[in-house]
Amino acid sequence: MPERSYFDWNATAPLRDEARAAFADALSVAGNPSSVHAEGRAARRLIEQAREEVAALVGARASDVFFTSSGTEANMLALSPAIEVAGDKRPRDKLLLSAIEHVSVRAGGRFAREAIEDLPVDTHGRLDLAALTTAIAKSPRALVSLMLANNETGVIQPVAKAAAIVHAAGGLLHVDAVQAAGRIDCDIVALGADLLTLSAHKVGGPKGVGALVRRSDDIHLPDPLIRGGGQERGLRAGTENVAGIAAFGAAAAVAGRQRAAEAAHMQALRDMLETGLRAVASGTVVFGVHAERLPNTTLFTVPGMKAETAVIAFDLEGAAVSSGAACSSGKVQPSHVLAAMGVLPPLTHGAVRASLGWSTTASDIESFLNAWRKLASALSKGQASVAA
Ligand code: PLP
Repeated sequence: MPERSYFDWNATAPLRDEARAAFADALSVAGNPSSVHAEGRAARRLIEQAREEVAALVGARASDVFFTSSGTEANMLALSPAIEVAGDKRPRDKLLLSAIEHVSVRAGGRFAREAIEDLPVDTHGRLDLAALTTAIAKSPRALVSLMLANNETGVIQPVAKAAAIVHAAGGLLHVDAVQAAGRIDCDIVALGADLLTLSAHKVGGPKGVGALVRRSDDIHLPDPLIRGGGQERGLRAGTENVAGIAAFGAAAAVAGRQRAAEAAHMQALRDMLETGLRAVASGTVVFGVHAERLPNTTLFTVPGMKAETAVIAFDLEGAAVSSGAACSSGKVQPSHVLAAMGVLPPLTHGAVRASLGWSTTASDIESFLNAWRKLASALSKGQASVAA
């Protein structure tokens, strides 16, 4: 068995040690955070500490952070026609989405299908701001949902510019910062986001925890997805996932503290990986390479490569990579992100994503490039099944 190297950090990151310790400690706290006795108050303290830590990662106030079961749930919660701003209860009539959003945003939350409109991206995978300007002029009260960084290409979106356009028209902006958090600056004020989504497992916390953060208490979400006991100030009923939330807080604290150093580390290794890819196969195409990207993501292909075959070939050589988004793995479907960028089949069928993280090493990159050498050589000899 070859030693394993993990290159699927955009699907999920390993649990940070600090998050594991916080999770284990929280499991020993018996109380229900809604109980008034000492045990309950101890559980409450863990949640409120985590709220501070998650808020700090995005420059928000703790009172503007609402914990959910995932980034998906936070997106679903945010995409509501009923969002009120400073008491304005008129419904938002339109949802504008970039064509490259994650499926949990593309599903449209609580908006009717007919109320959802796609915004195009350019060939580099960046939102077309002129198209946003035109669309918001027609629907000035729209809710706009944009990701800060794309999960497949890593391309960073011009969110602050989009926010200025949206707000000038009278619209609202939700930002899915799930992939960006811990990798680039995600200050909610600097971004101009009214609402912002986070997911614990992308920053080194556990899977199954997320957060919706609002810019200020001017913003009110009157229609929770889960009603009941009034937890999370009425926005998300159900006894809180205390251990998961505590671990999310611990991971967010480390991610915030170490972001600059980790980003530099990932970028140096990612550059080494991309240089190596091209040195082995000069026809390598890296998608979004001319745009600003996350420091950890490479989506690439070479003509003639099939993503499913390549993922298996890399896996057999000990490298865990993915074909586009993890959510679509297993389904032979061209990526909607590449399609929106104007990439045509067969190139779309060959895209492989290598995503790195804080514990990736130069030796991981070497292993990856060794696997790539074998794969590229099999491809150049025209072997149909390089995995065999
Ligand atoms: N948004 C983006 C951009 C993602 O990449 C993901 C997960 O891959 C999500 C949202 C969903 O987050 P979660 O896995 O916590 O539901």
